[in-house]
Amino acid sequence: MDLTLGQIAEIVDGEVVGDPEIRVRHIATDSRAAFALDTLFVALKGPRFDGHNYLDAAFASGARAALVSGEDDRPGVRVADTLVALQALAKHHREQFGGLVVGITGSNGKTIVKEMLSAILARSFEVYRSPGSYNSQVGVAISLLGMKPHHRFAVIEAGISHPGEMDTLAQMIQPDVGVLTTLGTAHREGLLSLENTAHEKLKLFANTKTIIATKDASPYLDEAIFVDVDGDDPFCAKGVKDNPHGFSFDVVGPDQGFEATLNVPGRHNIHNALCAAAVAMELGIEVEDIQDGLASFELAPMRLEMHTTSAGVTLINDAYSSDPVSAKAALGTLQFYAGGHPTIAVLGDMHDLGEDSEALHQELGAAVQQLGIHRLIAYGDWAETVQAAAIAEGMAKENAQAITEFDELSEQLDATVQPGDFVLFKGSRPLGLERAAEQLLESVAPTRLFIDLDAIRANVRAIRATLGDDTRLMAVVKSFAYGNDSTRVSQTLVREGIDALAVAYPDEAIPLRKRGLQIPILVTNVLAEEADKIVKYDLTPLVYSRQVVAALSEWGVRADKTVEAHIEVDTGMNRVGVKPQNVLEFAKFVSAADNVNLAGIMTHFASADDPQADQFTHEQIMRFDVVLESLRAEGLDPGLVHAANTAAAWRFPEARYDMVRIGLGLYGYHPSYATSEIADTVAALRFETRVIHVKTVTEGDTVSYGRTWAAQGERRIATIAAGYNDGFSRFMSNGGHVLIRGQRCSVVGTVCMDVSMVDVTHLPEVEVGDAVVLFGKQGKNEITVNEIADRGRTINYEVLCKIAPRVRRIFTREI
Ligand SMILES: *Cc1c(COP(=O)(O)O)cnc(C)c1O
Repeated sequence: MDLTLGQIAEIVDGEVVGDPEIRVRHIATDSRAAFALDTLFVALKGPRFDGHNYLDAAFASGARAALVSGEDDRPGVRVADTLVALQALAKHHREQFGGLVVGITGSNGKTIVKEMLSAILARSFEVYRSPGSYNSQVGVAISLLGMKPHHRFAVIEAGISHPGEMDTLAQMIQPDVGVLTTLGTAHREGLLSLENTAHEKLKLFANTKTIIATKDASPYLDEAIFVDVDGDDPFCAKGVKDNPHGFSFDVVGPDQGFEATLNVPGRHNIHNALCAAAVAMELGIEVEDIQDGLASFELAPMRLEMHTTSAGVTLINDAYSSDPVSAKAALGTLQFYAGGHPTIAVLGDMHDLGEDSEALHQELGAAVQQLGIHRLIAYGDWAETVQAAAIAEGMAKENAQAITEFDELSEQLDATVQPGDFVLFKGSRPLGLERAAEQLLESVAPTRLFIDLDAIRANVRAIRATLGDDTRLMAVVKSFAYGNDSTRVSQTLVREGIDALAVAYPDEAIPLRKRGLQIPILVTNVLAEEADKIVKYDLTPLVYSRQVVAALSEWGVRADKTVEAHIEVDTGMNRVGVKPQNVLEFAKFVSAADNVNLAGIMTHFASADDPQADQFTHEQIMRFDVVLESLRAEGLDPGLVHAANTAAAWRFPEARYDMVRIGLGLYGYHPSYATSEIADTVAALRFETRVIHVKTVTEGDTVSYGRTWAAQGERRIATIAAGYNDGFSRFMSNGGHVLIRGQRCSVVGTVCMDVSMVDVTHLPEVEVGDAVVLFGKQGKNEITVNEIADRGRTINYEVLCKIAPRVRRIFTREI
C-alpha cells in the first residue's frame, strides 16, 4: 500500500483532515504495537474497546495519520464506519494486485492448508500468506493490505462466525482459486445446520471458477475438484503408510499421481496435504515442488515456559496452542519435571482437528491417566469428553473435572492448587487459559532470567561431539547450577544422557535426589559431620582426609551401604586434595576402610584456560599421571579417572581421561577468550527486566545517588527495574550497557539497589513496559556476559552466580 490521504478519502468515501498529500504505507489497529514509518492508525470499535480512546497513544507511537469516525484534528481521514472503510481499502488493494489470490475457508485446517500450500508455492515463487490465523472481518482486511506487487501468489484465510459475514470477505478477497477444507461442526451456535454452513462458506467462491473442496461438500457444490482421503474421487490418497515422523502415500490426481511424504503427525493432515496439493496442481506447479513443499512442511515448534512462583507453585505454560502431539508431549514434560510432586493438568480444547476431534480428545484424556498425572481440569467445549476418557482409563472421579465457564475455572484453581504442585496449562489461545494462569499464579515480576533448556541440550550434544564416545560427561551444577536452579537444569541434563552430576555441598545434592534423579552425584566438599547425608542419599564424596573417610565408613557400616568415594589429588591448585607423594598411602587407607570403595580419582587445574600458563597445566597433568602409575604399579585400581573442567576439556585432550567435569560450557559460555573456538555451543541465558518510568531531564540535572552524572542538554532517561540486588552490578554505573528496542543504551548515574537509570534519548519510542535486556540478545544486538565481566574486572562465572534469588527463573523449551 502506498496512498495519500486524498486517495484514501476517495476510496473509502471519507473526508480528509489536514494535508491530503500525506502519504501512508502501513496500517495498524493496535496502538501498543511498534509502528513503522508512515503508518495509518485505524481506530476500530469493538464490543469491549474503542480505538478512538487510543489515538493519543497511536500518535505518540509514531502514527502519521488516523482513520477515524469522529471529530479529531490530527491528520487523517474521517468516515462514518472505520471497519467498512478499512475493508474498502483492502478491496481496493486486492484489485490492484497482479498475482493470483487463493482463498481458503472451512471449519478446520485452514491455517495448516495455507501453510502447506505456501510451502509448496514458495519453492519457486514469491508468495504472500495471511499472518497467523488472521481470518476475521478485520484480520482479512489487514492480511490483504500486506500483499506487495512482487508477490506472484497470495494465500488468504477466511473464517466466519455469523451468517452474512462471508459476503464482505468475498468482496475483499475475490479469490481466483478457492479451497473449502472441511465443513465440520465449528461455531455450531452461530451457523446451525450443515447445509447452512456449506451455503455460507461457499459464498466466498461466488465468483470463483476453480474450487477445491472436501468431498462432504459435494451435495452443495456442482463444479469443484473434490478431495477425499480414502475415496476414488479425482483427488485421493492411496496406500497410506505411517513413517516415523508422519506418513507417506500416493496422491492420485485427475491427470497424474505422485508419491508424497508428510513429516507431521495426525491423519487429518493427509486431507490437508491433499487440499494443498490439489490447488498446486490446478495452478500448474511442478510435481517436484509439491513433493518437496509437503515433505519440508513442519508445524511451528511449541515453546513451553516454566517457572516457580513465590508461593512455591510451579507453572508450566503453553496456553497459546494445542494439538494432540504437543499436548501429550506437554503432559510428559509435566510428569518429568514434577519428579513425583503433585501434578495438575489444565487442558483446554484442541482446535482444528476436523472429524477426528472427538477421538483425539478422548485419547488426550486417556493419556492424562496413563502418564500418572494426579489431577485433570479439562476446560472448554470438549472438556467432558476429555474428563470421561480419563475416568474410563481409571482416574478417580474426584480428580477429573470438566469446566466450561472461565470464572469457574479460576475458582477451581484457587481452591485446588497448593504449594509444591506442578501445574500445566495447555490450550489454544482463544480459550484464555493464559489469563487463568496469571490470576492464579500472580504475574511474573519484571526482572527475569530466561534459561533456554533447548540450548543446554544442544550444548550437551555439541560437547559430546567434541569429546567423542569414549569420554564420559559429568555436569557440574554446583552453586544452584551457576545461578540457574540446579533441579530443572539437572533434570534436563539427565534426560540428555549425561553420565554424572557434581555439586559443591551435600545440601545441593539432596533436592536432586528428592526430584528422583538417580545418577551418580559427586560432592566435592564433604565434612565429617555431613557424612550421614552422603550415605543416606547415595552420594559420591570427594575425599582427601582420613577423618572424613572414617566418618563415611562409620555411617556406611551403620546403614549397611557402601560409599563410592573419589580421591582428590592436589597437583598444584593448592585448594584441597592429597599431595601426590601421599596418594598411594591414602588410597590404601580408603580401600581398606569398611563399607568404602575407591571408585575414582581426580585432580583440578588452576589455569587451563590461560595459554600463558600452559606449562603449568602440563606439569599438573604430569604429576597426576605419575600418581596414577604408582597406584597401578601397586595393583590398586583407582576407578574412574577425571581431571578436566571446561577449559581443560577443550584445550587439553590428553587430560580428558575417563570423564570430564563440565560446568560453564553447558550454558554455552567460555572460561576465557582462549577457549572460545572449540565446541559449537550457544549461550543459554537471557537476563531481562523492563522499563518502569520514562522522563526528561534538562541541562545540569543529576541522576541517582552521589550525583555522579549530570545531563548535558536535554536527555530522555528511562528507569529500569533492576539494581545491584538483582545481580545488575554496581560496576555497571555510568557507562555499562543494556539493550532496549534492540539498541544499546548507557547506564547513567550509579546503579541503585533495585533500579537503574539509562539514557534513551536516541530512542524516542521507548515507553514504560519495554523489555530491557541486561545480557543476551535482543534483535540483532547482543550484550555478552563476558563484556559485563570485563567491565567489572571479574569473570563471567561470577556475573552468572550473582543473579539474585529474587530474579524469577523462567525455563523455556520446545516440545
Ligand atoms: C567448578 C568445578 C568444575 C567445573 O568448572 P567449569 O570451568 O565451569 O567447567 C570442575 N571441577 C571442579 C572440581 C570444580 O570445582
